[in-house]
Amino acid sequence: MEKPFYNRVALIGLGLIGSSLARAIKRGAFADHIAGHARSEATRDLSMKLGFLDSVHASPEEAVADADLIILCTPLGAYDAVLAQIGPHIKAGATLSDVGSCKASVAESFKAHLAQGVHAIPGHPVAGTENSGPDAGFASLFENRFCILTPDEGTDRAALARLVALWEGVGSQVELMDAQHHDRVLAITSHLPHLIAYTIVGTAADLEGQLTRENASDRAVVETREVIKYSAGGFRDFTRIAGSDPIMWRDVFILNREAVLEMLGRFQEDLFALQRSIRWGEADKLEDWFTRTREVRRGVLEQGQAGRFIPTEDDGKDAS
Ligand code: NAP
Repeated sequence: MEKPFYNRVALIGLGLIGSSLARAIKRGAFADHIAGHARSEATRDLSMKLGFLDSVHASPEEAVADADLIILCTPLGAYDAVLAQIGPHIKAGATLSDVGSCKASVAESFKAHLAQGVHAIPGHPVAGTENSGPDAGFASLFENRFCILTPDEGTDRAALARLVALWEGVGSQVELMDAQHHDRVLAITSHLPHLIAYTIVGTAADLEGQLTRENASDRAVVETREVIKYSAGGFRDFTRIAGSDPIMWRDVFILNREAVLEMLGRFQEDLFALQRSIRWGEADKLEDWFTRTREVRRGVLEQGQAGRFIPTEDDGKDAS
């Protein structure tokens, strides 16, 4: 494959994903010029200081002017307003893509706002960390990770090939998928795990206050400081996920409602089945279940998608 090359790439949103992409594009020299826009002056200034952009713009229209690739990297809830602003300023022949975690809603938004001649190709790099902002990004974020693109029958093949080459250039393995199918797969592999993490961390945080209000005995009250102190027992892995950006995840659950509710229903059934097995002392059933899930973990490791889990250290850059 020829080296991917765009004259001007415009990134709208300069947080973890936008800034990582800018760094990776710059490192590979995949564009002549990388223009960026973020909502706040503080993020724009910091992005220029960090050196991953060639120009920064207070107006998104200016950032996309003359760009041949525009990638939305804001939370999903901002898309419609951003598209309404930039839509009329995208030049014919340019490609518009994104990195959002849901894809069916994005395809709808792109259709609603785009002029003829603009190639709309929604995308989702399945890579990230729980950190946010331009200083959280790093150029290797997408290496050995999948990037899912969701073109439709009408998508221009040359524009698609060029975008695929860019993602491959930054280290990703590209998969093409139907947008609805993407949303169902990600509902179980990403969205539901986040919901469970948000739930369990919230439940633990409420425990001390609730038990105290219920006048439980001193021995029954589990204090928040104990939850934190003994978190290496498993809880801390949930806190990493539950530390993810609240706005981003609010938008994911609002926009992937149907698929998340379906997977949540299945999860609740299985949770009740396990609850029953615990209550009835069905040791064999529990062991069978846990043996099966251990196999899944092995599969994740074999695919090289396990990330790092080193219980004794924390370098603050967990790219799992
Ligand atoms: P982030 O670090 O919080 O950054 C969001 C960026 O969007 C910030 O630069 C923010 O600017 C900007 N922004 C927010 N609202 C805006 C608006 N109305 N107009 C212009 N800019 C706006 O978020 P992120 O983690 O990079 O996530 C960005 C997207 O990537 C989301 O759609 C998410 O679904 C997707 N994604 C995230 C991950 C992950 O692990 N985090 C993984 C894959 C995909 P200010 O700083 O000025 O507010």
